[in-house]
Amino acid sequence: MNEALAFFNPMRRLGFGKNSIFLPILGSILVLTLVELIATHTQISPNSASAIIISSSILLVVYFSFRDGIRGGILSAGIVFLYYTYVIFTRVKMPQREAGIQSAIFLTGMYIAIGLIIGWLKQSIDQLILKEKNARLLVEEERLRLKNILEHLPIAIRIVDVKEKKIEWNKKLEELLKKKFGGNFESDVRYIAEHELRNGHTLNVNDLILMKSLKSKKKINASEIEYLRDDKKKLLLKINASPIFNKNRQLTSVVSVLSDVTLEREMQERKNTFINMASHELRTPLTSMKLYLNLLFKRSQEINNNSLSTLISNLILQTERLQQLASDLLDASRIQTGKLHFEKQEFLLNELIFEVGSLFEEVRHDKKIIVKNAKPILVNADRFRIYQVLTNLITNAIKYSDKGDKIIIQSKRIDGAAEVSVKDFGIGIEEGKKNKVFDRLYQIKDGHDRTYPGLGMGLFISKEIIKKHKGKIWVESQKGKGSTFRFTIPLSG
Ligand code: ADP
Repeated sequence: MNEALAFFNPMRRLGFGKNSIFLPILGSILVLTLVELIATHTQISPNSASAIIISSSILLVVYFSFRDGIRGGILSAGIVFLYYTYVIFTRVKMPQREAGIQSAIFLTGMYIAIGLIIGWLKQSIDQLILKEKNARLLVEEERLRLKNILEHLPIAIRIVDVKEKKIEWNKKLEELLKKKFGGNFESDVRYIAEHELRNGHTLNVNDLILMKSLKSKKKINASEIEYLRDDKKKLLLKINASPIFNKNRQLTSVVSVLSDVTLEREMQERKNTFINMASHELRTPLTSMKLYLNLLFKRSQEINNNSLSTLISNLILQTERLQQLASDLLDASRIQTGKLHFEKQEFLLNELIFEVGSLFEEVRHDKKIIVKNAKPILVNADRFRIYQVLTNLITNAIKYSDKGDKIIIQSKRIDGAAEVSVKDFGIGIEEGKKNKVFDRLYQIKDGHDRTYPGLGMGLFISKEIIKKHKGKIWVESQKGKGSTFRFTIPLSG
């Protein structure tokens, strides 16, 4: 019944997209046959019969143009015209026939005009509805596609739909947090706040990364946040949230990505503990070894055994390198755990530079170490750590340049800070690698894929030390011509 209604009701067929040819023809023939039967087999006057014929013709054209568009209206008008011709030829006598034909043509012209207007309106409405339907379909498809992608992403994602005020999530998030969201927004947010911890304390709703991003409409990156799951398992999460805007720059959603770094952090801690222990354990035997070697060196000199002295002094050099490696390892692991301590004090930077310069001059006769423009500059810094930075830079300058080359150390005041430079005329550094040399464990390979001895930690440690002093460290260099490493530290007071 409903289907039959939908078939005949022109309103329900709007936007249907299909127009019939047969129904306007068949329907018009049927209705006009009925009208003909009424006109001929009942006692109504000829005027009433004409009125019935004209009004049913108009209704037919209006109905079929509204139901089946321009074509429906014109087909119906055509059938009406044929019927009028039939009536004129069967009932109107000769002298009036011509006038009758003229009226029939005039009326049909009017019906066609009505059919065209209504049909055109109907077709335009159809098109509009179809367009909207397609657009809605496209949006739905796009939404489903996105949902599918999110669902299969290997990262946990949480989306706040600002308009609908609800939280959507993907399977990975459900697996990670063992929780389904998507209920009431306020209770979901409260749940998250109750499970996220910073320094052991639960968070305030307003301190949640997603709420901060929602309020500020900015991207927020959170360092690690602890998450206590309902099954009491503690996770370490890295969370970042980004706002998404529509074309009119209105906030539509906030997407937060959660990465589980629990295992990574555990492994890192284990590795740091191991390095810490290993370098500690290495330091004691190395110190004793160096003491004994120094003793042996003295003895060998006393007995004038030069070849033995050279051998032992080589051993001392290697032991010192081992000591340096152990202490670099320890420092790097302390930097990672934030346990590298500093004790600031006021001291004269130029004095420290002279001290380090002379020390190197004493042991490295093959290099010319020149200290230039060393005017007194009072700085406020950790003397031992700045000594360490200078030693690293000078050791590198020696290591990466040829025998007999000069190394120039300079210091000056610049913009409220002290700037120190260590210049060598050695192998230099390629443009693209200048920043990378300060990365942990980074070493440049030479053309034959060989590296100089070392661990690639000296510059990393130096950078961290200078960073802790709120200074800067950088390098100016040209491949094959040499490098100048510079750093700044704050002046005293
Ligand atoms: P390493 O123990 O390898 O010397 P560093 O952290 O001190 O580690 O240096 C990292 C890398 O930077 C070195 O391997 C080297 O390739 C490059 N480098 C450092 N200083 C210089 C320099 N003065 N000249 C050329 N290259 C340098």
